[in-house]
Order: sequence, then structure tokens, then C-alpha cells
Amino acid sequence: MVKSALPLLLLGLLTGCAVNPVTGKNEIAFIGTEQQIEIGRKNYVPAQQMQGGQYKVDPDLTTYVAGVGKRVVAHSGVDLPYEFVVLNNSIPNAWAMPGGKLAINRGLLTELENEAELAAVLGHEVTHAAARHGAKSMERGTILQGVLLGAAIGTRNSEYAGALLAGGQLAAGLVTQKYGRDAERESDYYGTKFMAQAGYDPNAAVTLQEKFVKMSQGRKSGWIDGLFASHPPSAERVENNRARVQELKAQGITGSDLGVERYQRATKRIRDDKPAYAAFDAARSAIESKQYDVALGEIDKALRLQPAEAQFHGLRGDIRRLQGKHADAVSNYDRAIGRDDGFFAYYLGRGVSHAALKQRADAKNDFSSSLKLLPTAVAYNEMGKLAEAEGNQDEAVRYYAAASQAQDATGQAALTSLVRLDLPRQPERYTKAELFNDNAGRLFVRVTNGTPVAMRDVRVRVMLRWAASGEQSLALDVGNVAGGQYVVREVPLRQESLLAGQAQVVSARTN
Ligand SMILES: [Zn+2]
Repeated sequence: MVKSALPLLLLGLLTGCAVNPVTGKNEIAFIGTEQQIEIGRKNYVPAQQMQGGQYKVDPDLTTYVAGVGKRVVAHSGVDLPYEFVVLNNSIPNAWAMPGGKLAINRGLLTELENEAELAAVLGHEVTHAAARHGAKSMERGTILQGVLLGAAIGTRNSEYAGALLAGGQLAAGLVTQKYGRDAERESDYYGTKFMAQAGYDPNAAVTLQEKFVKMSQGRKSGWIDGLFASHPPSAERVENNRARVQELKAQGITGSDLGVERYQRATKRIRDDKPAYAAFDAARSAIESKQYDVALGEIDKALRLQPAEAQFHGLRGDIRRLQGKHADAVSNYDRAIGRDDGFFAYYLGRGVSHAALKQRADAKNDFSSSLKLLPTAVAYNEMGKLAEAEGNQDEAVRYYAAASQAQDATGQAALTSLVRLDLPRQPERYTKAELFNDNAGRLFVRVTNGTPVAMRDVRVRVMLRWAASGEQSLALDVGNVAGGQYVVREVPLRQESLLAGQAQVVSARTN
């Protein structure tokens, strides 16, 4: 049996066998702790941005949530660079990224009644990170980076929904994933232990689940898309938590702290402001259905109730922009950025209005500020237009290429611009020309348009080498080739044998 020791050892090294820091179980791990921390570090900001950005009206709330989080993680036994933020989003949700980066929505905080329930939520999410559930999903390849619909939950409107690019797609997948029942059970099991060890009453994990079950019954779809999509509540989870509390008590692990007053004090602002956010959310729905006057009425109501909320000013900017009132839109975006300079959509919206007003330098600054916070096709496409207007073709091509990755109307517009600009410069990049024979021995060239954009004046050069007469260069006009289609032209043959041949598109344009 000595012979098998080496291969087994090698297998262990290659697959990275490791002990799970939370469960103590042996498991295969390709993504190590350092890598998880790096993944969390890279994706934390884009994930926050696409979920509405940080809540900033009452910064004490974030400090408070982070304090409760720190109290819980002290017992997780896993030393990660934990961070906690409150997101400005009305949907009740919370998530954790690999490496210990957590977020909880304003809309979940207003549903909880005490600090122990908050500790239960955070304990559950901390376990997802500490027990490397996200890393495991990545290893299994079950993170759906392409599915971005869910990711757009919480951006202020759906204008940018399909337009997240490479930097945003993994972030989107990480925070909208379903972990699966085993991971959920594990997070409930250990999360409840961590909060009890921190001195909180573990019964809050039971009341929390009961609340979730009640909330998930008969709520509008936005709620289902949020917390309950990634952490489905069930009667079974309520019962499991109840049994877990008894188990912990038997082990002497329990606390009595509920922190009702502390919690009510810390969340007073967001609870008082619920009507303002309801008006804000109503304004967003009105924008979706293009009822801009209705949206304006709702957002003005929200602003009267809470003028310090940057999102309200930003959404008012969006409405004015969509109404074509760009100068007024810019003033609204200015007010939003004055209150919060860290949300991509204010810069993106202001950039579009600046561009409409032909204020190109300001537009460019705004688009690049927005791209630093979240890569969107809209910003790259606008940067492309600005570069093209300045006669900087290389730069324009690079921006259009980046924007063309998005699976939406903006991505398609960017691809059309990219092909229009770059096709005359490098036609071979977007086309394919192949020689082939038919059964009768005739020679043809097939020219394929590798883009969805129609091409005109396509010209192909055919290089042939004949046995007796040597090299021949032939130019053939192919004419129009529709997007994604090909055309075939016959190549005239000589009365001698053909030794070799090749073909290439040498010129083409789209307009
Ligand atoms: Zn969960």
C-alpha cells in the first residue's frame, strides 16, 4: 500500500483538501482564504452600487449595525476582514460575499424588532462567508454571472439593468445566488450559535424565521426576489431553529440580550422615513411605465419628507433628464452628489445630461467617475461617442468594444458603432472569406459577415497559385452581406492545375 501514498498525497495537494473553518469537516477547496478575501474586496463596491448604494442619511445606523456584526463575528472562529454596510434599498434583503463582506438593506432593518433579530440575520450571513458557501458555489460553477436581471434589483430604475459589464457580473452573481438547502441549514445552525455566544437571546432566530415565513406569504414579487430568493423561509427552518435553541441551552450556550430599546433608537430615522421611501419607490415604478409627471409628483413628496436623501435628488434628476430638461436635471444631480459623492448613477445621469447640453468635458468627467464605481455599458458607450466626436478613433473603438459586451439595446448600439468605425480599418477582423470547390470542380469564395450589422461594398481579394502561370491576385466585389449571413461568388478557373489559394476581405463598410 506504500505505493499509493504518493499519488494520494499529490491528489491532496492538487485539489487543496482543507478543513472547513466553521464545520470542521474535510472538504475539497480550490479557492483559498486569500483568494476569497480578494474576491470580496474586488466585488464589494460594485455589488453595493447595483443594489442602491450605501444608506447615508443617518451614518450612525451603519456604525450600529457594524457594532452588532463585530459582536457576532468574534465568535465565528474565522478571522476574515469583515465589513458591514447598510444599503439604500427598500427590499428586505441581506447578503454576504466571500471574504466576509456583508450588507443589509434598509428595507430589512425596518422589518426587525430588536437587536437580537439583527444579530440572527448577521450570524446567518457571517456563516455563509466563514463556512465559504460562496466560494463553494464558485468552485461548483453554479454562480450565474450571465443572469443580471436579479442583480438590477435596487438600482434606482431599470435603465441600466442589462448593462452591467465584466466587473459587475461576478458581483451580481455572488449576491443573488441561491446557496442551497444544506448551506442555509448550516448558516442557521452556526449563526444561531454565534449570536447566543455573543450574549443574545437565540430565540430571536426563531422569531426572525417566523417573521420571514409570514412576510413571504402574499408579498409582492420584489420581496420574493430579494431575501427569499436566496434564503427561502420555511416552517422547517422555524422548527430547526427552535430545536437548535434547545440544543444550545443544553450545552449552556445561551444569552438573554434582546436589545429592543437600542434597536428602536438606532433605526428610528429609517422607520420615520418609511413614507418618504414609499413615495420614492412609487416614483421609480412610475418611471418604469414612463409616467414622468406622476413620478415627479411622488419624488417631490419624498423630498418634502426627507430633503437630506441624495437618492431622492438623484431620481428627480433622472425624471428631468427623461423629460429632456437637461439643465434642470444637472442641478438635481448636483444636489444628489453634494449629499453623497459615492453613487455611480448620479454621475452617469449627469454625464448624459451634460452630453445632451454639449458640455463634453463635464460629461467625460462624469462618465469616468461613474465607471470607477460600477462598469456599465451606458457609460462606456457614451465615452465612445465623446471620443468619436473628438476624432479619437482608437479610443472610441476601445470604449464601444467594452460597451458591446452588454446584452441589451445599449450593447447592440455600441456594437453597431464599433463595426461602423472599425470595419473599414480592419475588415478581416469582422469577416471570414473561404475558398471551396463544388462537385463539378468549380471554385467559389464564401464571405461571411461575423457581426449582426449589415455590411456594404464588401470587396474580397483572392490569391491563387497556378502550376504553370504562378501567382494570381483577383479582386471580387461581393456587394452587401446582411448581418450574420454569407454570400458566395464563383472564382474563374484557368486551364491548368491550382496549387494553392486563399481569400481575405480587403474592404467593407456599414454605412
Ligand atoms: Zn442564507
